[in-house]
Amino acid sequence: MRDLSRDKSLLAINSATVKPWTLEQLVKGCKRAGITAIAPWRDIVQAVGIDKAGAMIRGAGLTVSCLCRAGLFPAADEAGRRAALDDNRRAVDEAAAIGAGSLVLIAGGLPKGSKDLAGAHEQVRDGLAALLPHARDAGVPLAIEPLHPMYAADRACVNTLAHANDLCDELGEGVGVAVDVYHVWWDPDLPRQIKRAGKRILTYHVCDWLVPTKDLLLDRGMPGDGVIDLRAIRRMVEATGYDGIIDVEIFSAQDWWKREPNQVLRICLERHQTVV
Ligand code: ZN
Repeated sequence: MRDLSRDKSLLAINSATVKPWTLEQLVKGCKRAGITAIAPWRDIVQAVGIDKAGAMIRGAGLTVSCLCRAGLFPAADEAGRRAALDDNRRAVDEAAAIGAGSLVLIAGGLPKGSKDLAGAHEQVRDGLAALLPHARDAGVPLAIEPLHPMYAADRACVNTLAHANDLCDELGEGVGVAVDVYHVWWDPDLPRQIKRAGKRILTYHVCDWLVPTKDLLLDRGMPGDGVIDLRAIRRMVEATGYDGIIDVEIFSAQDWWKREPNQVLRICLERHQTVV
């Protein structure tokens, strides 16, 4: 297992962790803190425009571990599915422009009014298959991020690493997985599925699961503050040969988003070096 305390370059700050910040603030804040990688969400990239965003990131010498996020394939009708595919192609272009290591995709949930979960699963597979040629041309690997099952209805109907691995098997070259501890830590099949994912793990995200969790979306914990055995999961991930960056991604409306972002970065770095 790698010694994170000796290598700051293995940390990326996901822009959701310091939500109030713009891309420019994120870039400058990371530079100040000696952090060399970021994982931006599309909103802050789009806010400055992709060319300027790419120039800003390259100018600062930062690595982009991944771009978050696209996907959300299922829709009630053909026009909706086409719109989703168009948006995903734009996301691939954005990822290419900023040199992201991968584009993170979540499945999307049930179309409004639908109870057809199997149909939604098919739409996700078909959407990924339709997006793949463009992603391959652009040289952007697609990272399917399974989300915790509590999001199956409204956000993502791919909820286990097993399902994401099945999709990778079916779709082939150019598709991998994003392993985010928040979404997969509970899964008794996790050791087997991490092993099975192997070289297809494109990006690895950490935070923590708080007890109690007060909000299903916006109450993630800082690594070390919850119940996830972060060391054990990282050991499994690195046993596959994963040698990439580890992103700290925390949605926390009532706690971390209210703190001073430079201080949040310092704590992320310290936890990265001690508990991740
Ligand atoms: Zn994530």
